[in-house]
Amino acid sequence: MPLSPARPGSDERLARMVRVPTVATKGDKPFDRFVALLAAEYPLVHSRLTLETVTDRGLLYHWKGESDERPVVLMAHYDVVPAVPDGWIDDPFSGAIRDGAVWGRGTLDDKGPLLVVIEAVENLLADGFVPAQDVYLSFGGNEETYGDAAVAIAGLFRERGIAPWLVLDEGGAVVDAPLSFVPVASAMVGVGEKGIVTARLTVAGTGGHASAPPASSTAGRLARALRRLEKNPFPARMPRPFRQMIRAFEPHVSARYRVPLIVLRTLRGPAARILAARGGEPAALMHTTIAVTMLAGGSAANVLPSSLSAVLNIRVAQGESTESVVATLRRAIRDESVQIEVLEDSAPSPLSATDNEQFGLIRAAVDATYPGAITAPYVMMAATDSRHFHRFAPAVYRFSPLAMSAEQRASIHGANEFVTIDSLERGERFFQTLLRSL
Ligand SMILES: [Zn+2]
Repeated sequence: MPLSPARPGSDERLARMVRVPTVATKGDKPFDRFVALLAAEYPLVHSRLTLETVTDRGLLYHWKGESDERPVVLMAHYDVVPAVPDGWIDDPFSGAIRDGAVWGRGTLDDKGPLLVVIEAVENLLADGFVPAQDVYLSFGGNEETYGDAAVAIAGLFRERGIAPWLVLDEGGAVVDAPLSFVPVASAMVGVGEKGIVTARLTVAGTGGHASAPPASSTAGRLARALRRLEKNPFPARMPRPFRQMIRAFEPHVSARYRVPLIVLRTLRGPAARILAARGGEPAALMHTTIAVTMLAGGSAANVLPSSLSAVLNIRVAQGESTESVVATLRRAIRDESVQIEVLEDSAPSPLSATDNEQFGLIRAAVDATYPGAITAPYVMMAATDSRHFHRFAPAVYRFSPLAMSAEQRASIHGANEFVTIDSLERGERFFQTLLRSL
C-alpha cells in the first residue's frame, strides 16, 4: 500500500512546538498554548477524532476503527524538563532549524516522538484511511514530574473495560551502533522496565556532648550498614530480553566477537555474575542495584547526632518486589537498630513478548522505514508513562522510531538536544506503516 507523502514542513511544526516552553514550573499557560497549537496544526485529527481531556494535562484522542477488538494505544508526552541556555548553541526554546535538524528542548524527549505520531494520523486522515482497529492517542503533560495524567488515562481504559492489544510509548530509539563492536543500526525496543524503591535507613543516636562519645557511634553503625549492602549485592540473573538482544546482534558482528557473544548468552549464570560485579550499565541490566543518594544528620560540630540517615535509590529487577527488596536489605544489614523505611515504590513491569504479532508489526514497520536495521529488545532502566498500562495490557513496548546517536541520547535532559529532519520523516512513515498494518 502506498504511504501518503509527508506534509512538507513537519520540521517547522516541531520547531513551533519547541517554542512553547511546557516546563512544569512555568504554570498552566504554556500547556494551554500547546494544546491550542495542536488543534491549529492538525485540523483533521481535531475534527475526525474525539478528544477527551483527562485531568488537566491528559489528552486522549479516539480514532474509531473498523473493529474495537484489538485497540492500539500510542503514547507520548508534551511536557519537557527545564533547560538553561548555558552550554547550548541556540536558545533551548528557540526551535532553530539548521544543518538538517530541529534543535531545542523536547525535540527527542518527547515532542519529536509525539509529532511523528500525530503527523502520521493527520496524513492518513487526508487519504481517507480508516484503521482496521480502534486507535487511541494518549498524550500526557506531566510525565517528567510523575504526574497523574497517564495514571488517569490508564484508569479510564480499565473502567471502560478496554484492554489495549498494543501499547507503544517512548523508550528505545534507532541507535547507530548499540555496542562498539556491533556496527549496525538497531531499533532498540523496550519490552519492560525496572521498578524503583526509595528507602531510608535511619540509626537513632543518644545525642549529648561530643567530648565524651560512646564506644559504638551512630555514624559507625550507619557506615557498617552501607558497607554490608555493598558487600552483599542482589543476586545476578541474565534477563531474557538481554539474551534475545545478544542473539539479534550475533549475525552482525565480526568473527572474533561472535564466539564471545555466544558464550555470554549460553553461560548466562556466570556471565551475569561477572557483568554484575563490574558496576555501571552492564551491571544494572543484570540485577537490582542500590545507590546511596543522600546522607543526613547532625546539627552542630560538637554535638552527637540524635539520628543519622541514608537514602537509597534502588532499581528493582524483574522477579523482585518491594517486600523481597526490603527483606534482602534487612538480611544484608543484620542490625536491628537500623530502621528501614520505604518512601516510594513502583514494581518492575512484566516483560512483553517478542514472538507475538505485536512485536512482529513493530519489526516490520522498522524494516520499512530503517532498511537494514536490526530490531532488538531490551529492559529499560528509566520509567515511562506506559507502566500504568502493563497490569491490564499484555503487549507494552517502549520505542520511538527516531534515529539517535550516542551524542543525541546524551543530550536528552542535557544541552543541545536535536532531531534530524530525516528521522522525523522516517518516524512518521513508521507510524503510517504500523497503522496500515493493524
Ligand atoms: Zn520522556
